Amino acid sequence: MTLTTRFAPSPTGPLHLGHAYSALLAHDMARAGQGRFLLRIEDTDTARARECWEQQIYDDLHWLGLSWETPVLRQSDHLRRYNDALMDLAARGLVYPCSCRRSDIRAALSAPQEGAPLPPVYPGTCRHRDMTDRRPGDALRLNMDKAITALSDRMPLAFTETGPERAGLRIVTANDLRCTTGDAVLGRKEIETASYVLAAVIDDAGQGITHVIRGGDLFDTTPLQVLLQALLGLPTPVYHHHRLIRDENGKRLAKRDDARAIATYRADGASPRDIRRMVGL
Ligand code: GLU
Repeated sequence: MTLTTRFAPSPTGPLHLGHAYSALLAHDMARAGQGRFLLRIEDTDTARARECWEQQIYDDLHWLGLSWETPVLRQSDHLRRYNDALMDLAARGLVYPCSCRRSDIRAALSAPQEGAPLPPVYPGTCRHRDMTDRRPGDALRLNMDKAITALSDRMPLAFTETGPERAGLRIVTANDLRCTTGDAVLGRKEIETASYVLAAVIDDAGQGITHVIRGGDLFDTTPLQVLLQALLGLPTPVYHHHRLIRDENGKRLAKRDDARAIATYRADGASPRDIRRMVGL
C-alpha cells in the first residue's frame, strides 16, 4: 500500500503556524516514503467556509514549497456521499434526531456550574426519538449504546498512534466510548449536512489515506472516528497527532490569531525556511 498522507484544512480563516506545521509534516512524511500527499478542503460548514480563505490556503501552501495531487477534493462537492452514509446508519437504527440546544443540555445535567464548559457527553434527552420524528432544525446523534452492541464481537477497537506524546497501540473500549464520547452529533441541524467527523472518515477511506497527520487537539475525536470506520466497514489508518504550536503564553494558536498567520509572516518578509525553523522543522 502506498503511504498516503493529507492536509485537510477548513477554509474558515487564515492558516497559521500550527497549520503550516501539520501541512509540512504530512508533506515531508509522504515525500520521505515515496508516497502521496493530498490536500482536502473541509468546507462542509457553509456558514463559515469562504472561497477567499480557500484561495489563500493554496497560495500559502505553494509559497511554503508544497505540491499536491489535483484535483483537490472539496467536501462541499460531495455532501450527498456523507448524507448517504448517515442515512445508512439511520436505517440501521443507530441514529436519532435531537432538538436540544446547548442550554437544554446544560439544564439536563446535574449541578451545572455557571459558565463551566459543557461536559462532553450528551445526557440522552432525545434518545427515545426515532427518525420518523425528525423535524427541520433537528441534529442527528449517534446512539452510542446501540453502536457498541452492533459491534459487540469487535470490541474493544484499536488504532495505531505514532505521534510523540501518545505513541503505541491505543485501545478504544466500550466504556471509553460511553463515558468520553457518548451520543455524538453526526448530522448537523441543516438537513443533508454531516458533521466533520463523519465526512473526514469517509474521505480518509475514499482517498486511501494510510497516515492521518494532524494536531494533538484532534486526538480525542479519534475513538469516535475509529468506531465510525468499524460501523461503515472502512479501514482505520495510522494516526499521528503532533504537538501543538503555541504562542509565547502557551496558548494554542487559533484561526483568528492573525499575528501568526502565514500571510502576515509572508508580508513581513519571512521565508519558507524561516517558517520551518519557527515550527521546529
Ligand atoms: N478540518 C479540520 C481542521 O481544520 C482538520 C481535520 C483533520 O485533520 O482530521 O481543524
